[in-house]
Amino acid sequence: MEFETVIGLEVHAQLLTRSKLFCGCSTQFGAPPNANTCPVCLALPGALPVVNREAVAMAVKAAIALGCDINETSIFARKNYFYPDLPKGYQISQFDRPLGEHGVVRVFSGERTETGKIVNRQEKAFGITRLHMEDDAGKSIHEGLPDSRLKSYVNLNRTGVPLIEIVSDPDFRSSQEAYDYLTQLRKTLLYIRVCDGNMEEGSLRCDANVSIRPKGATKLGTKVEIKNLNSFRFLQRALEYEIGRQTQVLSEGGQIVQETRLWDETEERTFTMRSKEEAHDYRYFPEPDLLPLKLDPEWIEQIKAELPELPGAKTQRFVAEYGLPAEDAFLLTSSPALPDYFETCAKASGNARASANWIMGDLAYALKNAGKEIEASPVTAEQLAALIRTIDSGEISGKIAKTVFEEMARTTEEPAAIIKRLGLVQVSDEASLNSIIDGILAANPKQVAEYRSGKTKVLGFLVGQVMKETKGQANPQVLNELLKKRLAES
Ligand SMILES: [Zn+2]
Repeated sequence: MEFETVIGLEVHAQLLTRSKLFCGCSTQFGAPPNANTCPVCLALPGALPVVNREAVAMAVKAAIALGCDINETSIFARKNYFYPDLPKGYQISQFDRPLGEHGVVRVFSGERTETGKIVNRQEKAFGITRLHMEDDAGKSIHEGLPDSRLKSYVNLNRTGVPLIEIVSDPDFRSSQEAYDYLTQLRKTLLYIRVCDGNMEEGSLRCDANVSIRPKGATKLGTKVEIKNLNSFRFLQRALEYEIGRQTQVLSEGGQIVQETRLWDETEERTFTMRSKEEAHDYRYFPEPDLLPLKLDPEWIEQIKAELPELPGAKTQRFVAEYGLPAEDAFLLTSSPALPDYFETCAKASGNARASANWIMGDLAYALKNAGKEIEASPVTAEQLAALIRTIDSGEISGKIAKTVFEEMARTTEEPAAIIKRLGLVQVSDEASLNSIIDGILAANPKQVAEYRSGKTKVLGFLVGQVMKETKGQANPQVLNELLKKRLAES
């Protein structure tokens, strides 16, 4: 039997506010343990929450950017569960009426070949069920401290930090689609500057719901939730593993148990964490300490007007305006600063295709080696454009340009200065090329005779001799023409 995969993602994104969601404590990462706490986030008796306006603004921004309808009135609710790192005994979340609903994310999603290459990138729309606000729990620490064998520790600095949870529709039919969606989601949050997208530090976290069903079936299969997917690689591998596991269970006539599983990277498998809880297990009820969150429609409009061009629209524009392949446009919009670099370079050089190739090729390689982001690139967009212009004008060859680029990345010098300093200007001047050609022809009478008797393949040898003489700086096009002309003259 053939099966179809159904995946939905739940993403938690930490908002980039300076203070927590319901108190004035700092959200700074890496502060001394339990330093960023106060009676509110420690849930001391009598302390009351006050909503952080900036956090709401960021959540609204994200909801708009993800195509959600904004509920002008949304309601905070208590999600009750007991855990040592949750002093209140509940999270303040949103349940019945979230901030945003019915979103759509358009993603240039591709297919992964056996070798891992992404092909056939095309635009697909994935739905977002809801986007709501909630506060984060703290962190239990079970290892790495004195007495860790006997005790667990708790750090409440993260308690109360503002999050948005973005729940997708079960729209992904492959791990690649889920991967591309998460990539686009992260990009979007970075573009609008509401989350730093750092999965290692936990400011972006992802859980996945996975089920499979016989191909053609309309009813969803039993779903399994996978937690702990704190990198893009883990997400893809865990999904692949889980799809394989479920396929095997069903093929053997077994049944999938609804449960929560964890991804274990060292063992490369998922394992049971607990049986899956239902919403009613949390005893949700409206938070009595907070009024319904009412948003002024004008304020929403104002936030909407301030949004920058979003990655999906930018990718589309790069395809349409610069004639780039979708894959290139997708890559060039992967971070907020990269598209600006590309556009500056494309406009200044007048050659978008070459700009894209240099940025994704030599520049990406140089940045990776130097451990730098595009913002700290040793070669500016204007300098790269100047280099591309010298190639297009025939001043230097593409091959020599590689050498010049390496030198630019090393010294941050202008290309013209490097070309001059290293004497790399391409020789296109006919008079000087002709005098070299004459010398070569005189020194190789045998080959000249062969050429003239019709063995034109020998031309390559003669071109090589001139190149050698000019240390590779002869303009190949001009050289070829001149050489043929000379040989035809007899
Ligand atoms: Zn606090």
